[in-house]
Amino acid sequence: MDDKTYRKCTHGLTIVYTGNGKGKTTAALGLCLRAVGHGNKVAIIQFIKSNWPYGEVEGLKRLGPDVHLESLGAGCIGLPGDDKPIEEHKAAAQQALEAARQTIGEANYNTVILDEIHVAAKLNLIRTQDILELIRMKPTQMNLVLTGRDAHDDVIAAADLVTEMREIKHPFQNGYLGKQGIDF
Ligand code: ATP
Ligand code: MG
Repeated sequence: MDDKTYRKCTHGLTIVYTGNGKGKTTAALGLCLRAVGHGNKVAIIQFIKSNWPYGEVEGLKRLGPDVHLESLGAGCIGLPGDDKPIEEHKAAAQQALEAARQTIGEANYNTVILDEIHVAAKLNLIRTQDILELIRMKPTQMNLVLTGRDAHDDVIAAADLVTEMREIKHPFQNGYLGKQGIDF
């Protein structure tokens, strides 16, 4: 320990999980679990992701009414199987952004997770400025968690806690598809 004095952090944090390695969404879900254990309420709004049976969808239901999950994306963009026009992805992202504004503004949740929001900004479905406004409007006590690859430098600058997941190894490199219970 250095000779700095440390004090209790009584305000909420803006947290960014970004980078090309696996674990961003998983880390946010881990925070959700921890917060619920302290009796806090958590809202998760997912950009890009649509109603796909990720394990966490059923898993979060088991945490009961303390966790609210909304998947408002239109699915993966530009991958095989995506036949939707970009306008549809944009409209979905705008809807997710509006839900985020409302959820943060209403302040009914101690922690709000905006999953894959950085990806939505990188793909120009929303603006970086929109994310910065969400950070500014956050009630003092609320924790705001922002995940996704390619977080913008301005968002990183505005956050309190930033972790970059860096890929060192991933089974994908050896030709393995995503694994149930690990990747989805
Ligand atoms: P997770 O949801 O597993 O925490 P993530 O949020 O860090 O992953 P995303 O960029 O959202 O990663 O990608 C989601 C999917 O892509 C997951 O199935 C994940 O395992 C996979 N993935 C993540 N990182 C890599 C990587 N470096 N190479 C290949 N696939 C990856
Ligand atoms: Mg993710």
